[in-house]
Amino acid sequence: MKYISTRGNIAPIGFKDAVMMGLATDGGLILPESIPQIDRETLTAWSKLSYPDLAFSIISLFADDIPKEDLKELIDRSYASFDHDETTPLIKKNGVYILELFHGPTLAFKDVALQLLGNLFEYLLKERGQKMNILGATSGDTGSAAIAAVRGKKNIDIFILHPHLKTSPIQARQMTTVLDDNVHNIAVKGTFDDCQEIVKSLFNDLPFKEKYALGAVNSINWARVLAQVVYYFYAWGRLPQPQEVTFAVPTGNFGDIFAGYLAKRMGLPIKKLLLATNENNILSRFVASGDYSLGEVVQTVSPSMDIQLASNFERYLFYLFDAKPERVRAAFDELRQTGRIVFSAKEMERVQSEFLSCSVGERETLETIASFCRETGYILDPHTAVGVHGAITRVTDGSSVICLATAHPAKFGEAVEKGTGFPPPLPSQLAALEGLATRCEVMDPDREQIKRYLQEKAR
Ligand SMILES: *Cc1c(COP(=O)(O)O)cnc(C)c1O
Repeated sequence: MKYISTRGNIAPIGFKDAVMMGLATDGGLILPESIPQIDRETLTAWSKLSYPDLAFSIISLFADDIPKEDLKELIDRSYASFDHDETTPLIKKNGVYILELFHGPTLAFKDVALQLLGNLFEYLLKERGQKMNILGATSGDTGSAAIAAVRGKKNIDIFILHPHLKTSPIQARQMTTVLDDNVHNIAVKGTFDDCQEIVKSLFNDLPFKEKYALGAVNSINWARVLAQVVYYFYAWGRLPQPQEVTFAVPTGNFGDIFAGYLAKRMGLPIKKLLLATNENNILSRFVASGDYSLGEVVQTVSPSMDIQLASNFERYLFYLFDAKPERVRAAFDELRQTGRIVFSAKEMERVQSEFLSCSVGERETLETIASFCRETGYILDPHTAVGVHGAITRVTDGSSVICLATAHPAKFGEAVEKGTGFPPPLPSQLAALEGLATRCEVMDPDREQIKRYLQEKAR
């Protein structure tokens, strides 16, 4: 399998190089040259596999330059850190299915991808005799999951920028209580988009990127998207009978839902992908009416989705534009010049044949948490509640919906309490963080200052 860039200006590369490249050197995002097609028979066979075995079956189609035994070992080790036998269990409550993606070390779905990415990095760096400085921006969950994935690993340092005081307190503690020497937390006095802009611009500084061997863990890394494709297949295989199903996906950076789009393109019987956003609704506006115009980031009770510029959206645009990189480049020029991208009627028809959307406000989110708890006793986190609200209000034809549960409710206890009137029980991993020592550098959203800090600390 070879990989190309959405911007069309890199020579095709293998999986290992794609993982190490992160953002493509032409400023685009990496995609496979072709999408493997999975037939019904294979789907049926896959539905009997354990999570790690299914992950191996899918990932090995895309990662054919790693010896199979090595890949199997990396995958098995990555999911051994999950605290549930099924890794991502599918449960049913009140007529909707819930796919619990939060059984990893930091209790959010990003562990699914990052546990694997951390192990892949370690493996590839060792093979190449190289070091890496991971640089990433987080609105909360990515950072803690990335840090958990590489803490203490040899040959890797990690620098994570998060918006100062804009993550939940528990998320901040999950990052800043990790005191391993190779972990560097930077709290930026600004928004997540500020953090992401700085990270992007440092990656686009090619001499700097090369000198410090910068690596990405943001959802722009192809291996992350790939790891997330697995649970769509897994969830489908756990349904009581084979059927077309809609997935409700709480969306921020378009990474999770893009993985669902790939699963659909591979042949998984997905009826629609329901793209659910909070008040930062550029993506749901796009699906509903073709209005892709940038707004200001607003703070919500689902902070991991407080994003306007969804970096993975470019991957979808590549397919929407019939794999024409020149159209992708033109669209991003247009966005830069006018703050919006305009789509044709034909393009919007295609979008709406694949996606549903909804934008869910704070009141509706909290009400969904409250009513779901009242009716089922099950506590949703505010991100999951955004998707569940979408499932209940948008899918009314009686067809099955699987809602992706992206975080454990205790990670967002304040918001949950606002909904239900009581704080969710704190799992022991989180309770143990209280009162631990922390380490973190607070900085202005100043690219040069942050660059200097990296130069000082990087190995
Ligand atoms: C990151 C995150 C999301 C959004 O996922 P994207 O891939 O960015 O769309 C949703 N919920 C939680 C809890 C997250 O951490």
